[in-house]
Amino acid sequence: MAEPTPELSVVVPMFDEEAVLPLFVERLRPVAETWGVPYEILCVDDGSRDATPVLLQRLRREWPEVRVLRLRANAGHQAAISAGLSRARGRWVVTIDADLQDPPEVIGTMLRVAREEGVDVVYGVREDRSSDSVFKRVTARAFYRSIRALSDVDAHVDAGDFRLMSRATVEAVCALPEQGRVLRLVVPALGFPSASVGYRRERRAAGESKYPLARMLRLSLDGVTGFSIVPLRLATWLGLLGGLGALAVLVYAVVAMLLGDTLPGWTSTVVIVAGVGAVQLLALGILGEYVGRTYTALQARPSYFVAHDSLEEVRAPVRPH
Ligand code: UDP
Ligand code: MG
Repeated sequence: MAEPTPELSVVVPMFDEEAVLPLFVERLRPVAETWGVPYEILCVDDGSRDATPVLLQRLRREWPEVRVLRLRANAGHQAAISAGLSRARGRWVVTIDADLQDPPEVIGTMLRVAREEGVDVVYGVREDRSSDSVFKRVTARAFYRSIRALSDVDAHVDAGDFRLMSRATVEAVCALPEQGRVLRLVVPALGFPSASVGYRRERRAAGESKYPLARMLRLSLDGVTGFSIVPLRLATWLGLLGGLGALAVLVYAVVAMLLGDTLPGWTSTVVIVAGVGAVQLLALGILGEYVGRTYTALQARPSYFVAHDSLEEVRAPVRPH
């Protein structure tokens, strides 16, 4: 007989988390008992180099609901979550960090809200960022501000990757072939009905943050470039403007020469410089447009997501698996 499908999968990305893992388990286990549904804890070991894999194997023996997915090499937070999502079997899937910054107690609330309100996604929203450093708060603000300004994704300003998703949502996310998915933007972009649950972001329980500045920048760049070709468009417009400016200079130089108002050699120099500049800038703009198209095509994102077709029977937000 096939194994029963868990009602809830908890996806936990972990990279070198030996310090925090025992604390996480100690806190999660009693909470899991209160869910009252079959569940699986899918630990995604993101190529840890410390004792995390050993601890996970041990944990698996003493907690049957624990599943371990080990990635060969460190793929990064977002990729580790993606790997977990593609393997999770639950009808509901929640993603949570291993460092206890996202309180496991909230998972039960998310599940209840999803069922009561009949939504597909429940975002965990940080109500209080006082445990974050000033630097983190400022950069996070800048990140969400620029995303909201440059794209039309309506991402919640204080929602990270602590969220509950229905099976339909998880499948829609996994069907996107694009690289460098920033899940906190991709999920709202899918447009499933959603709700949110506030929580207090705690300090990391042990160990160190795996998000140095370089990784945060990477995430921001992936976020902006993944959802907006505005920066590229900017290059096109600058190219066009620069090109037109150069043309104007060229015309001026020729007119000035005809009026005999120049030093010998000046006109030819200016004509060459401005002419070459204009051609280059215009060509760059054109290139930019094609690069943008290639990029969008590579992302292969569907241009729409059907919510409902009356030809099919009206179905509840969550399809039973
Ligand atoms: N993580 C991961 N792979 C990485 C970096 C981080 O799986 O390359 C995990 C990490 O173990 C943790 C979560 O992603 O469970 C969030 O990372 P972290 O707490 O270091 O980030 P911060 O909270 O400082 O932004
Ligand atoms: Mg953390």
